[in-house]
Amino acid sequence: MRKRITVFGSTGSIGENTVDLLTRQGGAEVYDVVALTGGRNVARLAEQARALQADLAVTAYPECLDDLQAALAGSGVEVAAGPQALAEAADRPADWIMSAIVGAAGLVPGMRALKHGTTLALANKESLVTAGPLLLATAERFGARILPVDSEHSAVFQALVGEDMSAVERIIITASGGAFRDWPIEALANATPEQASSHPNWAMGQRITVDSASMFNKAMELIETKEYFGIEPGRIETLVHPESLIHAMVGFRDGAIMAHVGPPDMRHAIGYALNWPDRRDLPVARLDLAQIGQLNFRPACEVRWPALRLAREVMETGGHSGAVFNAAKEAALDAFLARQIGFTRMAEVVEEVLDRLSRENGLRNAVTSLENVLEMDHLAREEVAQVLRADSPQKR
Ligand code: NDP
Repeated sequence: MRKRITVFGSTGSIGENTVDLLTRQGGAEVYDVVALTGGRNVARLAEQARALQADLAVTAYPECLDDLQAALAGSGVEVAAGPQALAEAADRPADWIMSAIVGAAGLVPGMRALKHGTTLALANKESLVTAGPLLLATAERFGARILPVDSEHSAVFQALVGEDMSAVERIIITASGGAFRDWPIEALANATPEQASSHPNWAMGQRITVDSASMFNKAMELIETKEYFGIEPGRIETLVHPESLIHAMVGFRDGAIMAHVGPPDMRHAIGYALNWPDRRDLPVARLDLAQIGQLNFRPACEVRWPALRLAREVMETGGHSGAVFNAAKEAALDAFLARQIGFTRMAEVVEEVLDRLSRENGLRNAVTSLENVLEMDHLAREEVAQVLRADSPQKR
């Protein structure tokens, strides 16, 4: 039977890699592409939709609809726009759905898709961070499956094939350290968005690249690990590994460590999720370990990367603290990219917002509804705006 496929965020970095793999594996001759969705890059979305003969193309932005319509005129591809259209795209029956919208905007389509019992390939880490328990409960209730696409979680998932979680002692998530791993800590306050937007090993979207420099990305991954694999925070470790060749390791109770080694190319994790439970040829470089010679590791310093400490606090608190953490981080990142605040101020702002809201709103309440998650997300963004309005020029 032909596999029915939908890709949310097809014009992004993960989305493009997904489209690349779908095309290499036969494209429209092999797959029924149900829907492709993007944001402002409607020209690329239209190109993809034509090439893969998608039934539907959706832009997240109503003001982009006319352009999308024009770009797809005569193609037979249906077009739509706006958050509601995105959610409705998730209702169209599909066997495999890639969730690769960036930010909390990815949560609603992913949740909707799970209610149809689909397989959700989850790149959108914000979904697990903001609403992990709800996401997993929904998947279970509707017989859906979530396959991790973040490279670290795909690595852990692969290391666990044939294993039982009761045999797992710890999970080690590796981190490249991002753009500033070797900078003097005192210099970080003056780092610019351009400097933070260049990753030493991975080619990714700008937001996740900056999040790698601040380690907010790793912080999110630690929370994802706790949620997805159901392991206590104290048994999740972070290890700086500048080469980004080992993506994660699982330590077992007998002392063995299983490490997943591969090139820093997201097409591995995406391809694994696409073809799971099979493995197929993937267009990723084969490592020559003799040539590489050595792999390096160092501890992850929570003074340099306070986001890691905040992630531990969020994991301990649970409840809605993940939604607040993510939304505050997204808003602080916007402010940094707009040059309203400095690089190190991002973590301070997130911490202030977590403190304020945990005093006022009982963040420990269990995550049971999407509405509550979205409300917390909204509250946290408002708090960031307040904190920034009150900031003196020196603090910024
Ligand atoms: P990009 O910024 O490259 O792409 C994001 C995609 O989402 C684009 O298709 C974009 O459209 C679309 N988009 C942007 N804003 C909205 C919105 N408000 N509503 C709906 N769609 C929107 O991101 P990445 O591909 O880098 O990351 C996607 C997700 O995957 C993130 O959650 C990230 O953390 C995660 N991830 C990414 C990795 C990577 O290697 N890039 C690795 C692991 C996880 P357009 O571009 O047309 O405006």
